[in-house]
Amino acid sequence: MRELYPTYADPQLWRSQRETKEIDKSEWQVLRMRILKRDDFSCQYCGYRSEKYQIVHHLDENPNNNNEKNLITICQMCNLIMHSGQGCVVQSVVDLYRNSKHNQNDIIKITREMRDEQKSDEDIIKFLGLEGKMPFKMDKPYLKKLYGFVTSRCSKTRDGMYDHWKAYHDSQVRVKKTEILNLRHQKTN
Ligand SMILES: [Zn+2]
Repeated sequence: MRELYPTYADPQLWRSQRETKEIDKSEWQVLRMRILKRDDFSCQYCGYRSEKYQIVHHLDENPNNNNEKNLITICQMCNLIMHSGQGCVVQSVVDLYRNSKHNQNDIIKITREMRDEQKSDEDIIKFLGLEGKMPFKMDKPYLKKLYGFVTSRCSKTRDGMYDHWKAYHDSQVRVKKTEILNLRHQKTN
């Protein structure tokens, strides 16, 4: 797994390079699918697998560097940490903390697992040992020392990719739970 920590993509850099995109939409779709398949649709930061709503991320933040070595699959939750300006401010679903008993990658994994088991944010925060809430700043060395927690809050944008993924993920969890219950039912009959 790759090391994950709160950071952001420099908005100026991203915007100016996006205007001069060297790859067209259909080319990007083909490339994107190749990367997702290479990574088995699994996030390279937390291992989460999903055939929907995964993101193909440019490691060097340059959207024109489409070398396959520069492209990597990342899930919606890790992406909010990687783009913590989006996570903390724009969508307002991520909170930052000074201390944690776990590294950032494990925070994501544990949060998702505990939330799937209907645990509250309070319980998850306590389990993770997250302490000392910190504000978001456009300062990469400052952010790198912090830990991001993806809360259960609804995003401010409401209809973004993250929201769509969340609804999809929750429906998958419900399907899995029903399957387990049915299996138990079959065994007892
Ligand atoms: Zn992830």
